Amino acid sequence: MKREPSILIIGAGFAGLGMALELQRRGMSNFTILEKAADLGGVWRENTYPGAACDVPSPLYSWSFEPKPDWPRRFSQQRDIHGYMRTVAEKYDLPAKIEFGAEVTDAEFDEGAGIWRVNTTDGVTHIADILIPAVGQLSRPAMPNLPGIDSFTGAAFHSAEWDHSVDLTGKRVACIGTGASAIQYIPRIQPEAAHLTLFQRSAAWVLPKFDTEYSALHHALFERVPVTQLAERFAIWSTFEFLALALTDIPGLKHPVIALANRHLEKQVPDLALRAKLTPDYPAGCKRGLFSNEYFPALAQPNVSVETTAIEAVTPNGIRTADGVEHAVDVIIYGTGFKGTEFLAPMNIYGLGGRKLADVWSAEGARAFLGISVPEFPNLFMMYGPNTNVGSGSIIYMLEAQARYIRQVAQYLAQRPATFLSVRADAEQSWDDWLQPRLKDTPWNFCSSWYRNASGRITNNWPGATSLFRWKTRKFTPSDYEERRAERR
Ligand SMILES: Cc1cc2nc3c(=O)[nH]c(=O)nc-3n(C[C@H](O)[C@H](O)[C@H](O)COP(=O)(O)OP(=O)(O)OC[C@H]3O[C@@H](n4cnc5c(N)ncnc54)[C@H](O)[C@@H]3O)c2cc1C
Repeated sequence: MKREPSILIIGAGFAGLGMALELQRRGMSNFTILEKAADLGGVWRENTYPGAACDVPSPLYSWSFEPKPDWPRRFSQQRDIHGYMRTVAEKYDLPAKIEFGAEVTDAEFDEGAGIWRVNTTDGVTHIADILIPAVGQLSRPAMPNLPGIDSFTGAAFHSAEWDHSVDLTGKRVACIGTGASAIQYIPRIQPEAAHLTLFQRSAAWVLPKFDTEYSALHHALFERVPVTQLAERFAIWSTFEFLALALTDIPGLKHPVIALANRHLEKQVPDLALRAKLTPDYPAGCKRGLFSNEYFPALAQPNVSVETTAIEAVTPNGIRTADGVEHAVDVIIYGTGFKGTEFLAPMNIYGLGGRKLADVWSAEGARAFLGISVPEFPNLFMMYGPNTNVGSGSIIYMLEAQARYIRQVAQYLAQRPATFLSVRADAEQSWDDWLQPRLKDTPWNFCSSWYRNASGRITNNWPGATSLFRWKTRKFTPSDYEERRAERR
């Protein structure tokens, strides 16, 4: 007997949509996506700051089965990526399968019936055989814990919640943070601001960005001879795999990359005092490597100062640093990242025996077999779960591997109605025993970043090349799981 399992996917970003596409393309259509916002897109819907763009070239940062021959640039802007997601979703009729404005608060596995009961803020309880959280690692902005933060009387916002009603022209602007978003918006807002003060806790490793506008000729070639775009995708993928190996398996490979970053800084920042401030004091690769040709030149402008003294407090008129200096500003922009290690928060997920997932993870941090399955949480399969983020490469490539694996599980369950699968504790433990030692020698251990939780465990990153992850997830193996039948069905 065959009965297609019902599936609930939480989130309509690249992960949730990618999962839905994988099912739809394999003829499985018994799924619904619950999305808290009013539109699809995930981070590419939320992050609209000036200059928001991908730092992985689009031929690779796109679905392998949906190449887009007419990307305007190699490194696409936010609106083009969001547009691409909409176009592909519409092509496969996904919007009809998405319930917008449905924020999941909690989900509980009903052991007797073998189903998930999933509650949303609108008071509805949804029921499904399989639950696939696809809520991202970077969907919840993190604000710094600074004294006086609420006392500031000017405009203040997080980069992921950019307030476009605030005109920065002629304003004194404070930018806090030097991550992937900050290096994109600082060059855009610096020409408008009267003065821009960058509050820097740690300098960023920055590599040149090999960006280009795709010409009409490129578009025609990619359209008529698709193998040319495939060849570009392959070249980009190989380069990122090389960088991934430099971070994990073959540290010697990082030397030419470090030399390139150092030369980039020297060439772009002739002023020695500024260059000293912008020279990182932690190993390359520890935080996400950044690509920009515009960041350093913007910081070298006369209307910019780079402040490296620690922030002591936010005051009604600005920011006070630890040396007692009060920096009066009109606007504060927090480029302070995301709550990356709080997987699936703030949802409450209850598995067998009413166990709460957050409690299971409270001791050490989030962990999961293949980044997908947790013992005693049956028929729950995560997308972009623990240790599936990459220091180098495209998340979409990783997500496609996860979607293929989960689709195989769904096909397996279709042959066994009323059955549920929990990953075996020993399978999960041996996965972790393999994974964590691989992380020990990586540069991610030598600074603080969103890859590590408070206990120091690296909960986010995948320790290797993306092809290794694809290999590990290529085939669902039923013996990794315990299989049970629901009593009441
Ligand atoms: C500014 C920025 C730039 C980035 N650039 C790159 C890049 O260049 N290359 C790269 O590989 N990666 C990049 N990333 C990482 C990016 O997170 C992934 O590439 C990818 O977009 C993640 O997709 P996702 O669907 O897992 O998560 P998200 O895009 O975060 O989507 C999650 C969705 O779930 C919804 N959701 C969350 N909680 C609930 C709930 N309780 N109920 C219902 N819905 C919910 C959210 O509203 C959202 O729509 C970037 C991230 C950011 C923030």
